[in-house]
Amino acid sequence: MQQFNMNINGNPVQSGNTFDVINPATGIAFAQCQLGDASHVEQAVSAAKAAFPAWSQTSDEERRQLLHEVAGAIKANMSELMELVTKETGKPMGGLNGVGSGMEVGGSVAWTQYTAELQLPVDVIQDNEVARIEVHRKPLGVVASITPWNWPLMIAIWHVIPALRAGNTVVMKPATYTPVSSLRFAQLASEILPPGVINIITGPGSVGGLLTAHPDIAKVAFTGSTPTGKRIMESAAGNLTRCTLELGGNDAGIVLPDIDVAEMAPKLFAACFHNNGQTCAALKRLYVHESQYEEVCQAMAGLAENVVVGDGLEEGTELGPVQNLAQLNIIRDLAASAKADGGRFLAGGHVMDRDGYFFEPTIVADLTDGSRLVDEEPFGPIVPIIKYSDIDEVIDRANRNECGLGGSVWSSDLDKAAELAQRLECGSAWVNDHGALQPDAPFGGIKQSGMGVEFGLYGMEEFTSLQTLKVVR
Ligand code: NAD
Repeated sequence: MQQFNMNINGNPVQSGNTFDVINPATGIAFAQCQLGDASHVEQAVSAAKAAFPAWSQTSDEERRQLLHEVAGAIKANMSELMELVTKETGKPMGGLNGVGSGMEVGGSVAWTQYTAELQLPVDVIQDNEVARIEVHRKPLGVVASITPWNWPLMIAIWHVIPALRAGNTVVMKPATYTPVSSLRFAQLASEILPPGVINIITGPGSVGGLLTAHPDIAKVAFTGSTPTGKRIMESAAGNLTRCTLELGGNDAGIVLPDIDVAEMAPKLFAACFHNNGQTCAALKRLYVHESQYEEVCQAMAGLAENVVVGDGLEEGTELGPVQNLAQLNIIRDLAASAKADGGRFLAGGHVMDRDGYFFEPTIVADLTDGSRLVDEEPFGPIVPIIKYSDIDEVIDRANRNECGLGGSVWSSDLDKAAELAQRLECGSAWVNDHGALQPDAPFGGIKQSGMGVEFGLYGMEEFTSLQTLKVVR
């Protein structure tokens, strides 16, 4: 069994108590991690606080170079990190449409390199004989990064690298289900960065709660479920701590009645099922015009029947297991409720008869809004295809959901699709794609999907405060 320590002030830390990390493809523990408690929260925050003055005053050039070294260390350890990501999440090394741990670790390198190159501008508002007014972006202090289990390494990178680049120090708290790739990353980064600049503690959600309520935390970067996001905002309120909250999604995709079904179906399928549907901005409600409804349903069902499901460590696997038993039970429950609502199961519908937490890729037709499978985020391999007849009405239905993370319109008429996509109430809208993220384009949710954005300068600015400097002449 592999052992992983916390890392505080550049040193490995053990608590004396451990918890097991389970490989969801087998249901068997493969690693042990340290169960941190309030004392580790204190140690990690105080190490990060002590490191902040020097790190925030380190030159831009030096911070940039050190972060490029961190990217180099991730790259140099790519195969080990990929295997850890696959073992802890279950996602394939390659995966459907190339979405797997190779993309997760490769993306972590790309995001780190891109973000290292970002430069916070100084805006000059006035420069005349009366005065010069400049607006500076300053780091905040200690950032707490709290991450979920679906893209553990990538999402940690999305929090940590812009925070560090802007001059903050960091305490990470990964999900208990998937801490190991983050622990290995933090160990690699702590060998490059000055002591205390990056720290990581592990333990249950209550450890995250202590961190977010800590008075020396200047900012919480949280990605996870909407209920936890609300609890974090409550606990951060005590100190008026800033938060970026990237929360759940129940993204709609709308197919206009003019697509080439054979060409688009594999793209729609991948948008719904990559990472087994366990992606915040996966397509989770597919609305198809009545004129092409049956054709799209059959094409999607055929793809679901043929996709290769298995252990992510085996070559050729396209979809892995559901990451944990609790999530598997949510999906089983939603499938039962879809059946009770009269859903027509075109593919799948059952827990697979094998070790681990596998559920058949499932396509359900003939449900409509008001069914739990349509209204709630399943976060797994089950997708409802919903019939519509009127475009204005379907936009309303897509928007009549409390989430507002992403949305998409699929059509051969790009201008019309782009116009309709802008009517979707969501932070990211795509045409003929869904869930595609890149390091320079801002990403974030509205409504119950959260607040704030990540990526690019827009994202990095969230780890800073403004200081207006006026020099009177
Ligand atoms: P979760 O909310 O259960 O847990 C996320 C993290 O919060 C874990 O590290 C957990 O230990 C910690 N935590 C739990 N309670 C806490 C508390 N009271 N205070 C502080 N920290 C606490 O989420 P999950 O089940 O791991 O992730 C799945 C959810 O995340 C889905 O809803 C998905 O849509 C969402 N998600 C959103 C995005 C996005 O960018 N919007 C990305 C990935 C996942």
